Amino acid sequence: MQQSFIEVEATSHFPIQNLPYGIFSTADRTPRVGVAIGDYVLDLAVLEAEGHFDGVTQGVAIFNQPVLNPFMALGRAAWHSVRATLQALLDRDTPTLRDDDNLRGRALLPRRDVTLHLPVQIGDYTDFYSSRQHATNVGTMFRGKENALMANWLHLPVAYHGRASSVILSGVPIHRPQGQTIADGAEAPHFTASKLLDIELEMGFFVGTGNELGSPIPVDEAEDHIFGLVLVNDWSARDIQKWEYQPLGPFLAKNFATSIAPWVVPLVALEPFRIPGPTQAPEPLPYLRTDNQSYDIELEVWLQSEQMAEAARIIRSNFRHLYWSMSQQLAHHSITGANMRTGDLLASGTISGEERESFGSLLELTWRGTQPMELPNGETRKFLQDGDTVTLTGWCQGDGYRVGFGEVTTKILPAKPLF
Ligand code: CA
Repeated sequence: MQQSFIEVEATSHFPIQNLPYGIFSTADRTPRVGVAIGDYVLDLAVLEAEGHFDGVTQGVAIFNQPVLNPFMALGRAAWHSVRATLQALLDRDTPTLRDDDNLRGRALLPRRDVTLHLPVQIGDYTDFYSSRQHATNVGTMFRGKENALMANWLHLPVAYHGRASSVILSGVPIHRPQGQTIADGAEAPHFTASKLLDIELEMGFFVGTGNELGSPIPVDEAEDHIFGLVLVNDWSARDIQKWEYQPLGPFLAKNFATSIAPWVVPLVALEPFRIPGPTQAPEPLPYLRTDNQSYDIELEVWLQSEQMAEAARIIRSNFRHLYWSMSQQLAHHSITGANMRTGDLLASGTISGEERESFGSLLELTWRGTQPMELPNGETRKFLQDGDTVTLTGWCQGDGYRVGFGEVTTKILPAKPLF
């Protein structure tokens, strides 16, 4: 197993096998690309200025940039070349950085001393609905067991176009949204702060390189276009959603915020954790047909109310519960000829497994609020309360190391006065 000269604990999310990309700044460094390694961040702008990436960057600043987009747009060969350079530089047996006190001091900063920023300029954001158990749970609640899955669900990866401007970073609090809802049996809606604010445990991937308008991405080439993955919390106002969603799907119930983690884990770092995907029956149409693959990624959600001394785990799920793969999502999204672009975010949809503990939203965990959840300090929850802090985390468990996704943590603030 490869090791770095930097000490990395076995439970750290950021060993040399991971090397996720993010954007950071300090008091005297403008936002630029960094890589997480153990408790440190490696400043790629410093290494770039020293010429370590000349073969890829060809004299143009790729890492002294406030977003990952210029690097992502270079494509897969460049991503692999940079990763190989980084893994060599950080290796236990490579003296270049290890023995150069000056360079090491400039290039490696304690992570606790840096400010993290949204890593990608996101052009378009799409949210899929690719967990069969989640779709079945929600369908059962709203339409009954017999009609749980809509007729299209097993034939195509259902999705809606989300809102990119309100994708926010871990640590940014959200105000409880307000909007129209309708009480059961009422004739007219009223305006109120959402009472049914919910999380959705998801993962998303960033498109690294897109396709020309009119030229779809073949399913078997789709992975070449995927730069990396992030944790995603797709905030949902269930009461607003229920009144507005027919016939065109979610709108204001979802557009107020989507939170992501700061670190983008390269797709190639997940290679050791590739597993067979679920059996797909009926067989998908040819443009979606592929040797279906997934990844073994443990996922958790933790909740802490203002009264609790520490957070409690409320959900344990796994990326493997997704029915449609990222490749199928990308192939389907572009099959009309719609062009994907560098920086587009495509999220998985809520990831729910078969066990109740693995349901990826409070809507499912409390079965629409009919079975409230008890927290360790005796409080109960149907949906989120003001002051609650929610943390999503996830990792792949290797033999003695973890390839982790960090955390996305968000606090719920009360609704804001309107005008
Ligand atoms: Ca969602």
